[in-house]
Amino acid sequence: MEQRSTELEEHLQATKKELNELQENLEKAHSEARTDGLTGLNNRKAFDEALTRELENAAQTGEPLCLAIGDIDHFKKFNDTFGHRTGDQVLRLVASCLKSGALNGHIAARYGGEEFAVIMPATEVASAETIANGVRETVQARELVKRSTGESLGRVTMSLGIAQFQPGDTAASIVERADACLYEAKRNGRNRVIVESRPGEMLQAKAG
Ligand code: GH3
Ligand code: MG
Ligand code: MG
Repeated sequence: MEQRSTELEEHLQATKKELNELQENLEKAHSEARTDGLTGLNNRKAFDEALTRELENAAQTGEPLCLAIGDIDHFKKFNDTFGHRTGDQVLRLVASCLKSGALNGHIAARYGGEEFAVIMPATEVASAETIANGVRETVQARELVKRSTGESLGRVTMSLGIAQFQPGDTAASIVERADACLYEAKRNGRNRVIVESRPGEMLQAKAG
């Protein structure tokens, strides 16, 4: 009896360990499926999920929410001049500027190739603008140096558009307005932030 009981106990322990490992693997896979491999930011899937969730939350609580979408300026030229791998380094650098600029509770993501987004729950548009300009200035301030040779590659800049939550907004509608502001930022000379102030209206923020 005693020996049987010890065997059962051992078997139970082994099963528990296996279950723990499975649980850990599952959590790791879940997190990897939501992470952008190049930059370590949230990927598009995680962004879409988070935006839907945060919009519902804003609608329920009545708290403000802002969405910033940013795009690197003239990035194609940079890639063509210095190569795709160096371009990838720049994407990592921009991601790190986003991570350090975003506040706790903000959700920074790689939205597409060289486009980034930050969901800012419980954030008024004036703060969102300050944060976006902070990121823009950090990106602009970093001198790029090619790791392998030490060669200076100059700097890159970034344009951003900000939309604020309006009742009835869907993920698609707020993204569309943030994108329209981003387009305006590009059209107005790049390296700037354009903020949607009131419905249908765009305000130009300070350019650097
Ligand atoms: P604009 O200022 O109007 O945004 O000009 P742009 O050249 O940045 O815009 P465009 O959309 O023409 O080019 C985007 C470029 O981004 C194209 C491609 O070379 C580059 N790109 C997209 N995804 C990646 C990526 O994962 N790695 C690298 N290195 N480059 C990428
Ligand atoms: Mg682009
Ligand atoms: Mg671009």
